Amino acid sequence: MKLVEPPLISTPAIEQRLKLLAQEITDYYRDKPLTVLGLLNGSIFFLVDLVRLLPLETQLECWRVQSYVGQQSSGTLQGLESCQAELRGRSVLLIDDILDTGLTLHSVQTRARELGASEVDICVLLRKNRVRQIEVETRWVGFDIADEFVVGYGLDFNGHYRGLRAIHLMGE
Ligand code: 5GP
Ligand code: MG
Repeated sequence: MKLVEPPLISTPAIEQRLKLLAQEITDYYRDKPLTVLGLLNGSIFFLVDLVRLLPLETQLECWRVQSYVGQQSSGTLQGLESCQAELRGRSVLLIDDILDTGLTLHSVQTRARELGASEVDICVLLRKNRVRQIEVETRWVGFDIADEFVVGYGLDFNGHYRGLRAIHLMGE
């Protein structure tokens, strides 16, 4: 497998989209007690770049969960039992790199609600156009993409390519 050039989504396109998302998110959470909850490792660059564009007082939490092995969803989510945070009465903005089967975001959203969050809304950088195992409502989406495997800007292939500044398809 190798990287496909040119990138599917360029660095300037990502930067531009983040500015718009940040404006919409800022308008929504003005005057609310906001906790941004990022899922590691995939959302790391998106999370940092986005939060720094928010002129809001925020609390920041990161949870580490894993569902993918290689290019396939394993079907189960690992690590959820050790995810903790003081979320009682907080408005939670859940951030992830990509919505695929829906398993990850559904499970994490449920966990955040169990911990007492007053609302849990989802912002993903990418949303794959496919039938999901579990329907998940996303309030903010960076880009809609086809059902293909992508890497870069936090997204990895077995630990590689996360540091790329643009988002690429993988090809033969
Ligand atoms: P879901 O639980 O929705 O199936 O998958 C969500 C997680 O799977 C994402 O947070 C991401 O880590 C991983 N994932 C899903 N699709 C892709 C993809 O196209 N590329 C990469 N690198 N990871 C993906
Ligand atoms: Mg992920």
